[in-house]
Amino acid sequence: MDFDFSPEQLAMRKHMREFMEREVAPVAAKNDRDCKFDWDIAKKIFAEGFLGCPVPEKYGGLGMDYIAYGLMTEEVNRVCSSTRTLFSVQTSLVALTILKWGTEEQKKYYLPKMCSGEFIGCYGLTEPEAGSDAANQQTKAVKDGNDYLLSGQKTWISCGSIATHALVFATVDKSLGHKGITCFIVDTKSKGFTAAPIKGKLGLRSSDTSSLFLEDVRVPKENILGNVGEGFKIAMSALDNGRFSVAAGAVGLVQGCVDACTRYAMERKTFGKPIGEHQQVQAMIADMVADCEAGRLLYLRAADLKNKGVRNSLETSIAKLFCGEAANRAAHNAVQIYGGYGYSDEYPVERYFRDAKVLNIYEGTREIQRLIIAQDALGIRYANGTPTGRPTALAGAAV
Ligand SMILES: Cc1cc2nc3c(=O)[nH]c(=O)nc-3n(C[C@H](O)[C@H](O)[C@H](O)COP(=O)(O)OP(=O)(O)OC[C@H]3O[C@@H](n4cnc5c(N)ncnc54)[C@H](O)[C@@H]3O)c2cc1C
Repeated sequence: MDFDFSPEQLAMRKHMREFMEREVAPVAAKNDRDCKFDWDIAKKIFAEGFLGCPVPEKYGGLGMDYIAYGLMTEEVNRVCSSTRTLFSVQTSLVALTILKWGTEEQKKYYLPKMCSGEFIGCYGLTEPEAGSDAANQQTKAVKDGNDYLLSGQKTWISCGSIATHALVFATVDKSLGHKGITCFIVDTKSKGFTAAPIKGKLGLRSSDTSSLFLEDVRVPKENILGNVGEGFKIAMSALDNGRFSVAAGAVGLVQGCVDACTRYAMERKTFGKPIGEHQQVQAMIADMVADCEAGRLLYLRAADLKNKGVRNSLETSIAKLFCGEAANRAAHNAVQIYGGYGYSDEYPVERYFRDAKVLNIYEGTREIQRLIIAQDALGIRYANGTPTGRPTALAGAAV
């Protein structure tokens, strides 16, 4: 692994940092307070072409590598976790999944429009009865001539109400277990498809999270991604990319805490000196800095493997677990360093604290990541013969 970034990677990081400081930082707190998905920001992101960062140029992307993508994701989340959601879903969960599993025709049709923001994607795996146990899909796909009729409910779907297209996982035959699951690209304007935003979220308040309802939604067989029965494999491969962007985003949140706390600790005085000169405050800042550095190395290692095309489910899970936990530790201590003021939305650390929690819930809870890591370490095999941790039906089974 090369520890030096290339001039292109550094330039993209700088470009994203300047964009976020200029366009998002001034409005992030207000959008969070108003629970507003900011279309003006989204349109500026589309115009910059940021959404297609790791998508090859021939499909309309920027053709950057995963290290550049990770660094950019970190910069986005350093300022605003909700904005990062749009990136992660559109790029990691949807565009890269179509890139990997789509036919040439599907790639040519969907990817340029996804990179430009003309199409917005969402990833519909979780259901009321299928979260960690993602193989337990209840949404049905019934063959009807050359089409399939999809019926069921998805919940907690990021970007669900703003999406033009949804990757919907549904079973063609429940008796086949995870081998019956199939992935469909569904136009959200289709008859029978509705979305309802979920209100009252703890964090990510300026991102859209919705439930999806499908009642006999007609989907042509050409809209199957991969083959019938490959949906579970596709869902898990999407998570390898999704978890990567969650890990990089989590490091951004830790960096945001470091930035806010180092500034505040040298301004705020108690007992005649800046609180940054009290050793217990220094200890919290030191832990944050160490978490930030360690987390960054972990997601960059996963990025390096992705660039080389090497299987990286385990390394990505380790990065996702560690960085999600690190973000929660950092945000917890950031509020502590700000004292009573940390409890107010006048300062950003309160938002970081609320936004951190989801990092060890979605794309596989921290417990699911621990299962993946422990199964690999212990060499456990499941009855279906799936090799350990890369991924097993159980451990890989969550978004
Ligand atoms: C803001 C937000 C955005 C989201 N976006 C998306 C999205 O875009 N697309 C999508 O498909 N989903 C999305 N999700 C859903 C998310 O991935 C699920 O909530 C998550 O996988 C957990 O599933 P669950 O909520 O059903 O919890 P459950 O599976 O019911 O788990 C409850 C608790 O039990 C633990 N647990 C469960 N099984 C085990 C086990 N075998 N061993 C040990 N512990 C276990 C879990 O870790 C958790 O602590 C989102 C969720 C949130 C909150």
